Amino acid sequence: MLIRNAEIAGLGRTHLRIEAGRIAAIGDGLRPGEHEAVLEAGGGALLPGLHDHHIHLLALAAALDSVPCGPPQVHDAGQLARTLTLKAAETQATSGDDWLRGTGYHESVAGDIDRHWLDRVVPDRPLRIQHRSGRLWILNSRALERLGAEDDGDAPLERIAGQASGRLYDADAWLRQRLGSRPPSLARVGRLLASHGVTGVTDTSQHNGPQELAHFAAEQARGHLLQAVLAMGDARLDGALPSGDVRPGHFKVHLHENELPPFDALCEDIRRRHAAGRNVAFHCVTLTELVFACAALEAAGVDTGTFAGDRIEHASVAPPETLPQLAALGLVVVTQPNFIRERGDVYLREVEAADLPWLYRARGLLDAGIPLAAGTDAPYGDPNPWLALEAAVTRKSASGRILGAAEALSPEQALALFTSPARQPGGPVRRLAVGAPADLCLLDRPWADARERLGAVHVRATWRTGKMIWQ
Ligand SMILES: [Zn+2]
Repeated sequence: MLIRNAEIAGLGRTHLRIEAGRIAAIGDGLRPGEHEAVLEAGGGALLPGLHDHHIHLLALAAALDSVPCGPPQVHDAGQLARTLTLKAAETQATSGDDWLRGTGYHESVAGDIDRHWLDRVVPDRPLRIQHRSGRLWILNSRALERLGAEDDGDAPLERIAGQASGRLYDADAWLRQRLGSRPPSLARVGRLLASHGVTGVTDTSQHNGPQELAHFAAEQARGHLLQAVLAMGDARLDGALPSGDVRPGHFKVHLHENELPPFDALCEDIRRRHAAGRNVAFHCVTLTELVFACAALEAAGVDTGTFAGDRIEHASVAPPETLPQLAALGLVVVTQPNFIRERGDVYLREVEAADLPWLYRARGLLDAGIPLAAGTDAPYGDPNPWLALEAAVTRKSASGRILGAAEALSPEQALALFTSPARQPGGPVRRLAVGAPADLCLLDRPWADARERLGAVHVRATWRTGKMIWQ
């Protein structure tokens, strides 16, 4: 295929040929071959395909098939009831599986709701709603019945005065087993990400194992999942081999500051993963978690082998005194600028004023020599990376208030957050060069326009290894 009149960084308007999955030629003199397809770019910027460095594919697939039950879509009890009733009516005729599934519930909507509340809204179909924290499910009576929950003495049910309230805490494994659920199709996820120009992702789910990786590869083979995948996961991925375009990645450690793991055991875990040739990635959203992760890595030793460094996911709070250690350990930070937009107003209300300048930092980390990349954390964040890019530049919350103005990036620095290689997040950005894999996205406008408002950008076409996956 020949892409004509595309704007390529450093070259201006020119033509680019894709052949055998790679960029075969770039130049003004290129003419279409006899049976060659031609795409007229009209001066739109042609960029490397984006890589979302932090995403959860299976959870995103589930969320796309679910009813949003909390902010920003749903704010009060009446709205929640209407949304559920509507979805129940909409899906009744078409769905072979009659379960209704909601996500993102938060008490600010309707308080501590239970089975009785849900029964009043959806009495005749099994319904389960997940709390935004991911740790709580709330089921209606039909759902409890369907799962045989009340006859199961081992079911992790909350009981109030002997009766199941419909609330289940930390019950994902039990639920999965009871539902006998198969992993979801990734077709919608693949299309959605391709429509945003995303050609690769790093799945950062902690409990990925061989089965999940096999599912990713199978979904790629079916033409559903259109992106290359680097998959983090647990110890079962030590020594795992790549399959399809799925590569095993970091060992993911999920720290919770209220129940931190025993320090020595954690250090031993880190050493074992490094010995197996794997890097480690720490989920750190509080200062305590960040300090703990750094101390463990300091004691266990860091590894800069396979993936150019161990990683800190989120680094939500990173005051100046933490930066020298992050830099000295060669750690990569993978941030979520979209949370500034999506959660900024809540942070401004709830986070202590002294911590506000250190939330989801960017510029300060780069200035300290810390490699920085970004991911959307979808489905916990909006999967559109262009909105994240805009927030990295404007630092604006949804209501337009500014968070950490000193942390703002230039549009080019923001783009770099999503264009460093999968295996070298925060490293040198991928460039369009002859011989490179044709992982590309074409914007609907030149870069000079796009950089003024990145959130307004539309992607006209996306290619992965030369194959058009979106137009
Ligand atoms: Zn995450």
